[in-house]
Amino acid sequence: MSYDYLIVGAGLFGSTFAFEAAKRGKTVKVIDKRNHVAGNIYTEKIEGINVHKYGAHIFHTNDKEIWDYVNQFVEFNRYTNSPIANYNGEIYNMPFNMNTFNKLWGVVKPDEAKEKINDQKAAFGIDKPKNLEEQAISLVGTDIYQKLVKGYTEKQWGRKATELPAFIIKRLPVRFTYDNNYFNDRYQGIPIGGYTQIVEKMLNSDLIDVELEKDFFENKDEYLKDAKKIVYTGMIDQFFDYQYGALEYRSLQFENSVLDLDNYQGNAVVNYTDAETPYTRIIEHKHFEFGNQSKTIITKEYPRTWEIGNEPYYPMNDKQNNEVFNKYHELAKRTPNVIFGGRLGMYKYYDMHQVIGAAISVVNQEFKSN
Ligand code: FAD
Repeated sequence: MSYDYLIVGAGLFGSTFAFEAAKRGKTVKVIDKRNHVAGNIYTEKIEGINVHKYGAHIFHTNDKEIWDYVNQFVEFNRYTNSPIANYNGEIYNMPFNMNTFNKLWGVVKPDEAKEKINDQKAAFGIDKPKNLEEQAISLVGTDIYQKLVKGYTEKQWGRKATELPAFIIKRLPVRFTYDNNYFNDRYQGIPIGGYTQIVEKMLNSDLIDVELEKDFFENKDEYLKDAKKIVYTGMIDQFFDYQYGALEYRSLQFENSVLDLDNYQGNAVVNYTDAETPYTRIIEHKHFEFGNQSKTIITKEYPRTWEIGNEPYYPMNDKQNNEVFNKYHELAKRTPNVIFGGRLGMYKYYDMHQVIGAAISVVNQEFKSN
């Protein structure tokens, strides 16, 4: 037993834990099956542009402690997420706000927009929304639903909106101001120079060894035998050999292109909200950092059905999957010396600030007597 902790997964959860453990004088070994650290927040520099390899990542939080915490590793720029929607060539601002309503209906004042939405809701006559379609219409009316929600959501989840549970869009961001900032949080930005350096700095300690391209399951028994304690951030169902069945995810496929032009779409994120375009969005990475390189790199994001072996991106937290997860979670609680964490270990969609917060609470629990 040469290390105090073996950490499975060099993503944000595992790396935050590793950093905090090393700070307390513990020895740590971090393994990851990928050939790089940083998990899904990994950015790679191509043509001088930091490319978000696993989808667009915008850091945002309301929590000053988390903001200060992450700022010890990196400086953030002033990027404000203001995605736009492209519906068959018509461009709308997001989140749905007075700019969107003005373009849709010509309304200028918030009361006029509210009246329009309320009229559409009333005409549809929904009392208690039973599915995503009814939920969306009860939040934003039929026009916005048809042009900006339906196609995008159906592509994203691979199911009809009438077959999706209402809870998925409990909080559609609607604003009766001319504010195109997608997030309400006080702090947001993109790390100047990309995300990978956050994790590299977290893992930069004499007490931390990192081994890449090491899959925990190729040596599970050895690792369990050798490590005093394990922090496991892989898939919880896989850890328990899928004994209650596989938890379901939505997957994504990313198609990157380097283009010989300096500005492809004028914005970092453009959502394609019609049903016909097969991808959900195009990311143009240089705009996250206000880049002025002569080339540009774009990524088309295609939603995909997930099966074992594919990259799991979004947990399908419906009733059935949550019940299966709860069974695994009970097993996890009874598994000595293994801490389960992160988005795959907890089968939960975490934003980055939430995953750092979750790791810090596990750290506080683990080292409370130190
Ligand atoms: P991960 O980053 O997935 O790290 C887990 C690591 O464990 C991986 O590196 C994996 O290779 C490794 N691993 C798994 N199994 C094994 C094994 N058997 N052996 C060895 N290693 C293993 N958050 C935001 O705040 N803002 C955003 O804009 C945002 N956008 C997102 C967009 C997309 C498309 C996605 C999918 C997520 C987004 N997120 C965003 C969420 C963000 O990616 C997560 O909060 C964060 O990456 C979770 O970190 P983690 O350590 O839990 O998981």
